[in-house]
Amino acid sequence: MYYEAAEGLARESLDKLQTERLRRVVATCLRSPFYSHRLGELKLTPDDFNSPDDIRKLPFTTKQDLRDNYPYGFLCQPMDQYVRLHASSGTTGTPTAIFYTQNDVDSWAALVARCMYGVGLRKGDVFQNMSGYGLFTGGLGIHYGAERLGCLTVPAGAGNSKRQLKLLSDFHVTGVHIIPSYALYFSGFLKSEGVDPHSLDWRIALIGAEPHTEEARRRIEELLGVKAYNSYGMTELNGPGVAFECQQQAGMHVWEDAYIPEIIDPKTGEHVAEGEVGELVMTTLCREGMPLLRYRTRDLTRFIPGPCACGRTHRRIDRITGRADDMLIIKGCNIYPMQIEQALMSLPEVAHNYLIEIFKEGVMDQLRVKVEIKDDYFVEDMRVLTALQKKIASRLRDEILVTPRVELVQHESIPKSEGKAVRVVDLRDKE
Ligand code: AMP
Ligand code: ZN
Repeated sequence: MYYEAAEGLARESLDKLQTERLRRVVATCLRSPFYSHRLGELKLTPDDFNSPDDIRKLPFTTKQDLRDNYPYGFLCQPMDQYVRLHASSGTTGTPTAIFYTQNDVDSWAALVARCMYGVGLRKGDVFQNMSGYGLFTGGLGIHYGAERLGCLTVPAGAGNSKRQLKLLSDFHVTGVHIIPSYALYFSGFLKSEGVDPHSLDWRIALIGAEPHTEEARRRIEELLGVKAYNSYGMTELNGPGVAFECQQQAGMHVWEDAYIPEIIDPKTGEHVAEGEVGELVMTTLCREGMPLLRYRTRDLTRFIPGPCACGRTHRRIDRITGRADDMLIIKGCNIYPMQIEQALMSLPEVAHNYLIEIFKEGVMDQLRVKVEIKDDYFVEDMRVLTALQKKIASRLRDEILVTPRVELVQHESIPKSEGKAVRVVDLRDKE
C-alpha cells in the first residue's frame, strides 16, 4: 500500500527506531568540530538518549551556528566522502551550505520518492520538474526522487513558459513540480496562449518551497486542472522530502523515521501544547555527512492532532503560516504576510500577484499593498475602481486589524521573480 513499510509503523516501533537513530546520530555528531565541542561541554554521549523525549537534553542548533562555522565546521566525515553540496536560497540573510555523502543523497532520494508515491505518482509517469536547478534543492532533490520512483524525468528548470508548455504537451507529462507563485503565473500564460489546461495530460502538481494559502492551492487546482499537494522542505534538512501531504490533503506528514520534529515557543524554547502554533525544530536522524540536532527552522506551524485517514502513522504539520522572523509589526499589530495573501485570494477580482510594502510616514510605519486586478475588473470608471479599492482595504482590515493603503495595479505588472516570490519589500530606509 505504501512505498515503504516504515510509513505505517506503529507508534511504539517508531519510538524505538527514533531512539536507536537518535543515539546513532549523536555518536556521528561527536565527530564534527562544532558538535564535539558543544556536546563535549555538556558531557552528553549517546548513552544519555533512551527515548525520543530525551532529545530535550540537547541544545538547539541555529542558523547563526551554521554561519559561524561555515563552511566545514559541521562535517562529520573525511572530506573525500562528500559528493554534493547545496546552499539555501538565503530567504533571510546570507546562504548556508549543506554537504551530502553518497548515502545521504540516496536516502534523500528515497524520501522524495516516498512522498511522490504517496500522492499517486508511479513508475511510468512522466514528470516535469519546473523549479530551478543549481544550488536550490528543489531542482536536483526532486529530480533524483522522481528518477528513484521510476518516472521519466524532464529537468525543465525554472521559467521559459513557452518551452515548459511544449515539453508538457510533447511528452504527455502527467506530474509536475512547480513553485506556487509560478503555477499561478503559468495559468495566466496558458490562458493567453489559448490552451485549455484540461487538454494536457497532467494530473498531479507538487507545490512548495514557499508559503502559500489553502486559497492559493484551490486556485492552482482549478486553473491548472490538477490535484496540487503541498511539499515542505529546507536545505538544512536536505531540501524537499521532509514533510508532504498525502492524498487526504489534510496536513503534511513529517517523516519521523528520518527526523524528530518538535514545536516550541520561539521565545521560551519550551514545547507548546499539542495542536498549538510554534516554531518547528527538527533533528535529522539519517544523515551521516552533516546531521543537525534540534535545528530551529524559524518556520511556524502546528501539529495536527489525531490520526490521518490514509493510515500513515507519521505526525502531520499544518501548512507553514509564516516564519518566526517575518512577522511585521504595524501600528502595534502583529501581521504575517500569509494573512494578507489569504484575504486577497478570497476576492474574485484579485489576480494572482501582490506586493506588500512597508514604508515610513513621519515616525509611523505604514503598510501598502499593491494588488494585481484581473483584466475583466480593471475598468476605466474611477468610481468602480475606488469602490474595489475600498472593498479590498476593508477585507484586509478584517484580517489584520490595520487598514493598509491599497494600490490597484494591472494584471502582470508586478515584476515576477524566477524562484521564490518576493512578497514583502521594506522601504523604511528608502522613502
Ligand atoms: P530553502 O532552504 O532556501 O529552500 O528555503 C526553505 C524555506 O522555504 C523553509 O524554511 C520555508 O520557510 C520555505 N518553505 C519550503 N517549503 C514550504 C512550504 N511547502 N510551505 C511554506 N513554506 C515553505
Ligand atoms: Zn495521510
